[in-house]
Amino acid sequence: MIGAIIGDVVGSVYEFNNTKDYDFALLTPRSTFTDDTVMTMAVAQWLIEDPGHHHKTLVRLMQDFGHNYPRRGYGGRFAQWLHYNMTEPYNSFGNGSGMRVSPVGYYARTLEQAMELARISAEVTHNHPEGVKGAQAIAACIFMARAGYDKKDIRAIVKARFDYNLDRTIADVRKSYHFDETCQGSVPEAIICFLEGNSFEEVLRLAVWLGGDTDTIACMACSIAAAAYPVPVELAQQVFTRLDERMRGIVREFTLMCFKRNGEHADQWIANNIASFDDTQISVNDSRKQSRQLITPHTIRELKPGEIFVFGSNLAGAHGGGAAAAAMSKFGAKWGVGVGLQGQSYAIPTMQGGVETIRPYVDQFIEFARLHSELTFLVTRIGCGIAGFTPRQIAPLFAGALGMPNVALPADFIEVLS
Ligand SMILES: [Mg+2]
Repeated sequence: MIGAIIGDVVGSVYEFNNTKDYDFALLTPRSTFTDDTVMTMAVAQWLIEDPGHHHKTLVRLMQDFGHNYPRRGYGGRFAQWLHYNMTEPYNSFGNGSGMRVSPVGYYARTLEQAMELARISAEVTHNHPEGVKGAQAIAACIFMARAGYDKKDIRAIVKARFDYNLDRTIADVRKSYHFDETCQGSVPEAIICFLEGNSFEEVLRLAVWLGGDTDTIACMACSIAAAAYPVPVELAQQVFTRLDERMRGIVREFTLMCFKRNGEHADQWIANNIASFDDTQISVNDSRKQSRQLITPHTIRELKPGEIFVFGSNLAGAHGGGAAAAAMSKFGAKWGVGVGLQGQSYAIPTMQGGVETIRPYVDQFIEFARLHSELTFLVTRIGCGIAGFTPRQIAPLFAGALGMPNVALPADFIEVLS
């Protein structure tokens, strides 16, 4: 969420005063947080205090934050919704749903959960299909950036799933772009800023330079960028000082909660945004020792030296399909070898019977991993493909690997285990 807040604060002075200059001043004495930050806080607080993710809680928190931070640039109909304490949505497709959604992208453990929570966070006001879609697209991008998807894949998935035109450059869009606060007229553009920029600051500058609804476009673009790139610490600090104590507390609490939930994914975010802020550094370091958990990326196309692809096999070593076929074609698995290390892969047989028949092989693997601290093992969802088991059945076998510094587990295994 710190990325979203930085985008909002930096964009705040350029919303009705678009800059022609790419090298504009990031912060001015007038730079301040707007509705984007306030509603982002409400969503973060919702995730902190309501594990059931109910609409009602979010409505109450959005109203509460709206009343506590008045005159922050709320859109006309949203301001009415706040003013009259309305509890029903009003079919909006404004970009308010996209600007407040970022905490969802950092909280979610799976892409589907990001999509589902984004839908709820949108539909309390923005229940128009475009309003929901805008929030989902931003949350999905954040999740995918966190999970290490490369930009080529993010672009393809967003195009396929949301039907947004992302095959434009900001320089081109800019020529005819004008103020547009709809989701469909600003969410794709924010995503393009992320796809085009090669650092957090580049994404931020592209978003503000594009013009239009600058605080919200920068808010959305930078919420994704913070999941992919280090956030400049000094900029984050200066923006942080423009928040009040309540907001700073929410950023800290939410950050730590995500770190405890998702371990590895939050590292970069915390290291670059939060670690330098007073007492938080200490608690982050402490929790890091206790709960560091590597998470296996969703897609593994290549391995770094020392990384091992752990896949489900059969005792015959017939690596014909699924992850086993990938292990053989890319990572050195050998036909006819059904168990153990082979090249940069490690086979665990899953096809010989019930779950209990898999256990000895998993135990053997965990022992092997313990003895080989020089290697990092990326455990894929073994047994949950062709073998037909569920994460609920397989994950408990890996309880002994939880928290091992050199074993990454799939997100849904970790969810079962915690
Ligand atoms: Mg705003």
